[in-house]
Amino acid sequence: MSERHDIVVVGGGIVGLATARALLAALPHTSVAVLEAERRWGAHQSGHNSNVIHSGIYYEPGSLKAAMARVGGELMIRYCQEHGLPVARTGKLIVATADSQLAPIAELARRGRQNGVTLREIGGAEVSELEPSVRAIAALDVADTAITDFGAVTRSYAEELAEQGGAARLGARVLAIETRGDGIVIRTEQDELEAAVLVNCAGLASDLVARMSGTDPGVRVQPFRGEYSSLAQRAGTTVHRPIYPVPDPELPFLGVHITPGIDGSVHVGPNAVPAFSRAGYRWRDIDPGTTAQWVRDPAMRRLARSYWRDGAREMLRSLAKPMLVADVRAMLPGVRSGDLHRDGAGVRAQAVDDSGRLVDDFVVRTSPRAVHVLNAPSPAATSSLLIGRYVAALAREAYDGTPAPNLRVLIEAFGSESP
Ligand SMILES: Cc1cc2nc3c(=O)[nH]c(=O)nc-3n(C[C@H](O)[C@H](O)[C@H](O)COP(=O)(O)OP(=O)(O)OC[C@H]3O[C@@H](n4cnc5c(N)ncnc54)[C@H](O)[C@@H]3O)c2cc1C
Repeated sequence: MSERHDIVVVGGGIVGLATARALLAALPHTSVAVLEAERRWGAHQSGHNSNVIHSGIYYEPGSLKAAMARVGGELMIRYCQEHGLPVARTGKLIVATADSQLAPIAELARRGRQNGVTLREIGGAEVSELEPSVRAIAALDVADTAITDFGAVTRSYAEELAEQGGAARLGARVLAIETRGDGIVIRTEQDELEAAVLVNCAGLASDLVARMSGTDPGVRVQPFRGEYSSLAQRAGTTVHRPIYPVPDPELPFLGVHITPGIDGSVHVGPNAVPAFSRAGYRWRDIDPGTTAQWVRDPAMRRLARSYWRDGAREMLRSLAKPMLVADVRAMLPGVRSGDLHRDGAGVRAQAVDDSGRLVDDFVVRTSPRAVHVLNAPSPAATSSLLIGRYVAALAREAYDGTPAPNLRVLIEAFGSESP
């Protein structure tokens, strides 16, 4: 007889584990399992990112991202402090290095204030006082930003899940999903499980898992590799807080930034190179299915037409170190080519809609017995405690009919609770 659970979560990244943990907190007598394909938690996006707890400055006022980032960031800082996880409230600077960036940075300040973010507009002289290695003509000094280790946070969620009595299974890649009678049958590499409700938090494979379960995801996931380089620390290259460029408002990526890690190292990145595999950590990782998607899918052809200029630039910068060095030197003029060394990459799961647009906001879809998280880009790690509770409330509705509260009500309530 196959193992039976009330709710099965596919994907042991920070979102899946936060959801499972929230489900068990709300429904301690239900049986919840998390199935993770890899042999460790957070093996993909959750363990390969910039580790920045975002403030919510960038996001369209009224969007899910904006609503979740500010409260979610505060919750994340408290969670790290209460669980003895590394965290430092460094603040960050978003720097304008050319006159053409002054209007966009003023717009960003306006957006940030609308989203309730604590920030100051400062001039170049004050930038030099705060960060002597950085050159800028103006900047936003954002107080609510922090750095952490999201891989450690993900593992902490997994430990809590096990303590709460959840079944946490590594090496359990889901291969097929079938609706049978009043339940869902989930086939993994080793065995079959049954569940009343399925929660899909499969990140880079979330559209595939939705299709497996018979749901049209309405989006396709395109992998974008973000490559990092380590930055040697010496006079002229030292920074004390994350330094970000003014982002391109047309793209859902923040631009190559300079980020001090919680371990004292400093990294530059990530760029946004279209990848040809969902595990496209290197140029040579090419998967025929992902590559064919660019040719066969009309939405991807539309994306290629609108994104080719930015995409080509990102690819060139990935291959030509002098371009990367020039971009970093615009913010940190003391940097020399020899200071930068390739050091790992992450692959973003970026949803693309039918019109070929890169979807900016979180996307969560429900069907009678399932909840699918189809776009959980940055700042989903920052907001994971909130996203987890939101997805858990939707899963509970599918499980026992308790209506999921309105999102704003949910956020207000969570903001005043313990993480
Ligand atoms: C380069 C980069 C920089 C970023 N920087 C930041 C940042 O500074 N701050 C921030 O807040 N966010 C940042 N993000 C975003 C953040 O990392 C992600 O939003 C978050 O980690 C998403 O978590 P997830 O659980 O949805 O996905 P993942 O961590 O990718 O987890 C999905 C899991 O599902 C598993 N899976 C897939 N298919 C199956 C299957 N068939 N069966 C079982 N398991 C399966 C995968 O193995 C994986 O472990 C960054 C992301 C990247 C890539």
